[in-house]
Amino acid sequence: MSHPNQESPAPVPMLDVNRQNAPLLAEIERAVAEIARTGAFVHGPACKKFEEQMAAYCGVKHAIGCASGSDALLLALMALEVGPGDEVVLPSFTFFATASSVWRLGARPVFADILPGTFNIDPADVARKITRATKAVMPVHLFGQCAQMDELTAAAGGLPIIEDAAQSIGAEYRGDRAGGLGLMGCFSFYPTKNLGAWGDAGLVTTNDATIADKLRILRDHGQSPRYHHSVVGLNSRLDSMQAAILSVKMSRLDDWAAGREQNARRYAAQFARLGIDKQLKLPPVAEGCNSVWNQFTIRVSGGRRDELQQRLNERKIGSAVYYPIPLHLQICFAQLGCQRGSLPHSEQAAEEVLSLPIYAEMTRAEQDSVIAALAEFCGVAQPGAKAA
Ligand SMILES: *Cc1c(COP(=O)(O)O)cnc(C)c1O
Repeated sequence: MSHPNQESPAPVPMLDVNRQNAPLLAEIERAVAEIARTGAFVHGPACKKFEEQMAAYCGVKHAIGCASGSDALLLALMALEVGPGDEVVLPSFTFFATASSVWRLGARPVFADILPGTFNIDPADVARKITRATKAVMPVHLFGQCAQMDELTAAAGGLPIIEDAAQSIGAEYRGDRAGGLGLMGCFSFYPTKNLGAWGDAGLVTTNDATIADKLRILRDHGQSPRYHHSVVGLNSRLDSMQAAILSVKMSRLDDWAAGREQNARRYAAQFARLGIDKQLKLPPVAEGCNSVWNQFTIRVSGGRRDELQQRLNERKIGSAVYYPIPLHLQICFAQLGCQRGSLPHSEQAAEEVLSLPIYAEMTRAEQDSVIAALAEFCGVAQPGAKAA
């Protein structure tokens, strides 16, 4: 396949879920076949098993599966009876679903700025944004690292905290795992997350038995017992097939996180060696935290982010901008009246960030081509590399 005089190295995808699934195919096929054989497609033993695995993994008492991470957020807010007239404080620099869950319940998303280092919500700004209408605070553990939970808990002053942990399964904050740091934790198993299903799936964690019961009823049309509806819930089931797949994949989760960590360390070491860590700022990990590196997100200074991404595209190296428009500036939220300039760190991040391939299955050669492309962009001749 490789040609002796080949000029351009092989493409490097941003993510390749098939590489992760391939070694597990036989095991997963057996698990799926078992579901087909028993016919327990909905709320079967596979769901219960996965919920128990997740509760144990996150160090919480209860885990309630549902149809997606977006539904997990919606259900968590519904369990708190968030509705019209209520406010929920959350970051603007996050995936859309964090805010849409609030909006869909008729409540008002109140956007707080981020800390420029970790990209996570700024507890001081949360404190400023809390009003008498605030019903909850919803930090996001963005890109694989937990938000500053001690400071947030203090800022929330007794208000419930819902963790959007969709990107941070397994991430720790002062020894405790994401999902066990607030009143509820919301997870997504969308295929690109660190624990990815073969479709959509989500889950809510909590240590509160009353909330857990409420969540189980809410995900099932609000019925308990059957055909008796005291509240209006959702149809948001965790598919048994997805649960069975996730149970198999769960056993490899920590290995994958270790692989991501190794790649992150290697990027950092190579950036420093090449002296490109001034132009391309590495993602810092806060004290008391680790990262499970759902994304490896650098900042490109000097307004050159899009130019770098284009260079990478030309070399068929995958990269992504998470997120190009902070939520407070999205057209659909225009009626909230947020102005450009109101959340300067979120707006600056949206202009500077670029996420690089970080998945555990990335080969050393692939990472080397990413690094070589970055070095060239920064005008650094790589020692040992062939002259251009
Ligand atoms: C992926 C994601 C969600 C939504 O999860 P889905 O399963 O895609 O609905 C919510 N919040 C964040 C931060 C996410 O990354």
